[in-house]
Amino acid sequence: MTADLRPADAPRRTYSAAQVFPIVALIVSVTAVALWIPVVRLSVNAVEPDHLLLGMLVLLVAFLIGELFPLHIEVRRETLLVSGSELPMVLGLLLLPAWTVGLTHLLAGALVFLFRRDSWRNIAVNLSFIAAETGAAALVVVTLAGSPPAGSATGLQYLAVALGVLAGALLSAIAVGLTYRMLGPAEPLGKVIVRSMISALAIVTFALAGYTVWMAGPFGPWLCVVLAGVLAVLYRTYFVFLRQHADLTRMYSFVRQVAAVGPAIEGWRAVLEQVRDQFNAEVAVLRLDEGTGELATLAVGPDGIRTEPALRDGDPLLAQARTAGRVRVSTDRTMDAQVLAALAERQAWDVLVVPLRSGDRDRGYLELRDRLSRWDRFRDDDLRVLETLGGHVATALDNLRLLESLRHEAYHDAITGLRNRVGLIVAAQDRLAQGRGAAILLVELDVLSQVNNALGHDRGEQLLRLAGDRLVGLVGPDRPVARIEADRFAVLMDPLTECDLTALGARILHAVGLGYSIDGIEVDPQCAVGIAFVPGGVGAESAVEPSTLLQRAEMAMLAARARTESIQIYRPSMGEVYRRRFQLVTQFRQAVEQGRIIVHYQPKVDLGHRELAGVEALVRWMHPEFGLVSPAEFVEAIEATGSIDILLEHVLDSVLAQLAQWRGAGLHITASVNLSVHNLLAADFPTTVAAALRRHQVPAHLLTFEITESNVMTDPEHSLPVLRELHAMGIKLSVDDFGTGYSSLAYLRRLPIDEIKIDRSFVQGMGTDLSDLAIVRAIVDLGHSLGLRVVAEGVEEEAARDALREMECDEVQGFLISRPVPLDRFEAWLQARTVSIYDPASTTHVLRMMS
Ligand code: C2E
Ligand code: CA
Ligand code: CA
Repeated sequence: MTADLRPADAPRRTYSAAQVFPIVALIVSVTAVALWIPVVRLSVNAVEPDHLLLGMLVLLVAFLIGELFPLHIEVRRETLLVSGSELPMVLGLLLLPAWTVGLTHLLAGALVFLFRRDSWRNIAVNLSFIAAETGAAALVVVTLAGSPPAGSATGLQYLAVALGVLAGALLSAIAVGLTYRMLGPAEPLGKVIVRSMISALAIVTFALAGYTVWMAGPFGPWLCVVLAGVLAVLYRTYFVFLRQHADLTRMYSFVRQVAAVGPAIEGWRAVLEQVRDQFNAEVAVLRLDEGTGELATLAVGPDGIRTEPALRDGDPLLAQARTAGRVRVSTDRTMDAQVLAALAERQAWDVLVVPLRSGDRDRGYLELRDRLSRWDRFRDDDLRVLETLGGHVATALDNLRLLESLRHEAYHDAITGLRNRVGLIVAAQDRLAQGRGAAILLVELDVLSQVNNALGHDRGEQLLRLAGDRLVGLVGPDRPVARIEADRFAVLMDPLTECDLTALGARILHAVGLGYSIDGIEVDPQCAVGIAFVPGGVGAESAVEPSTLLQRAEMAMLAARARTESIQIYRPSMGEVYRRRFQLVTQFRQAVEQGRIIVHYQPKVDLGHRELAGVEALVRWMHPEFGLVSPAEFVEAIEATGSIDILLEHVLDSVLAQLAQWRGAGLHITASVNLSVHNLLAADFPTTVAAALRRHQVPAHLLTFEITESNVMTDPEHSLPVLRELHAMGIKLSVDDFGTGYSSLAYLRRLPIDEIKIDRSFVQGMGTDLSDLAIVRAIVDLGHSLGLRVVAEGVEEEAARDALREMECDEVQGFLISRPVPLDRFEAWLQARTVSIYDPASTTHVLRMMS
């Protein structure tokens, strides 16, 4: 649980017991004195009955029993109105002088409270209530029937006593009701009075009936005892049953409630309110240990959620609860000073604490304070029930934590600890749902697979963590940052202006794009940033789904990569590009079957011998909607899908068929076919090629495969053996786009190659850029020194061709000689531009250039 359980706003505070009780005690005492003065005056001349002392003693014992064992009809706060003292009061007022009733009742109360080591405050209040209650009763009796009662009771006396006791109960109910009202929200006064009057009436009736039976004859007392016994048994069974039933029902609903509680504070508040109700406690507190060193606290009192004073370190009650498993303390005067201080800190005199234990870990504490009943305190069985509840709470917390960690895993990336794609989408969803708009900035490093291959996956993960740290360091810990896949990261932001977003994108590029030093090896990422945003406020745009927003940022990023502009903001036209790309991918197989994928040929010319060195096969897609689609567009798109193998199979088939046909015509023509990285990763690729060569009866040396360095470098472990096998079969291998990739000599040596093709960017720059000229010259020399043929592609001008010839470059290819053309036009070109000359060595015809 991460939510702070402390409520933000403290509730309005009513008066504390410490403030209210002394005033109440004073007022009620004054009332009591006012009631007793006329009683004493009226009964001062009265004749004392026989056996007065014995009667008082019996009455005292009866009061003591009544106070010590009140009738626990504990429905919320009703207990405080049904004490066991009304019964002796009725009999006392019936048989003895009124003052004796007041005196014995006070004495009994004082003894009981002292015995319980109650606080002076409580004792004062309760004694004042007793004095006032008996005072009111006595006054009514003395006024109506005189004092002391003459002989056996008369009807008038019955009436007087009944009315007196009811008056006392009424006064008491009003006083108690008002007092609790001052302490916090309480039941309506009328309801309290009615309830207390009903119970007083029941007891008066019962007492008077009992007295009548007692006096009825020789068997009267016996009958009374039997009756009382039967009633007591009934009372016990009935209330014990009721209580157990209520406890069970509450426990059941409690368990259900706790099981359903979420991390939201409202759920726990309801749980605490129920605990508070069940135990009839003034305050219920949940203290949660979330491992932060401080306990998160939620407290519910009569006013609802209340602020809790922070406990001192090493609070003795929590400490005891930890060691003993549960603790119950009540204020008494012999108490340990530490514990007393802990109680004072809680403004309580009666506290239960249980630890929330799961396994051997404490998740926190459940605490109850102060019974709301006037007479009652927490008992040991309350503590046991609370312990059970604590167990359920601990289990619920465990479940919550489990849920939390599952949720965390679902939304976070294990390597960087950042969010993952789902986590980002959820965060974006929150923003968009609130109409706040959102921006996603996506950045891709584009070095992960190379780092993984060259340095291992541990280093790859290290790189990801470093990149994640830089990103978080840049945008701050409060912004959602995610690693959405491989080395692609995303930041969720406010929808700033395009200008600000671009500026932020530049800062991200700068932070994440700088070199990484991993185990002393410098890694330079090729970063691109894509940005997409939805402005805040409600409008048509706010209907954008978070996944769409992310997808747009991805499109923008791919566009940035394609245009080598490194930062791009999403434009709807980019969507068009991807719609087209998607169509190309999905329609490709069908296009092959329908013969829409055709091969164009571009000649390569041997500069020294001035003859046709061979052709490069370049694929074209005649698309019914998009026209002639360049391989630059669709090859990359289908590379990620399995379709790239189909492309190669198709091209190889066409080219080999053509080579076989030229060979049949006695022409010596070789052909180059471009490979993509996926072709090289298939271990059975050489077998497929061998089968195709056999099928078309074409010797392997007529076939050249062109590969780029990066193709090989993506996964050298898999591609190198494949290349070696192809080479062993007699197929020639050529490194395409040489100079743009690694151009690492070390690797060049390891590759079983025959030819390098200088990238056309250098060739085209030769005429204007001296450094390009130098590079071309260096490559030619390098290639020759390694015993390789060197081909220059993209030759468009005669000057370039002449320079290349002067450098002794072996072959040229480019628009100067011919564009890539379909077969029929290529054959026309052959007719027009070459003469075939018989070569006795190979018993074939070579094609000599005419100019
Ligand atoms: P590449 O292998 O570098 O092919 C050479 C590209 O340069 C071709 O583009 C060609 O039309 C173009 N070109 C040739 N001479 C000149 C010139 O003098 N000036 C200029 N500006 N360009 C010239 P194309 O046909 O669009 O092919 C693009 C790329 O698509 C190829 O680059 C190759 O990597 C890939 N590709 C083509 N066919 C296939 C194929 O069958 N399989 C695979 N995997 N890739 C293919
Ligand atoms: Ca090529
Ligand atoms: Ca090339």
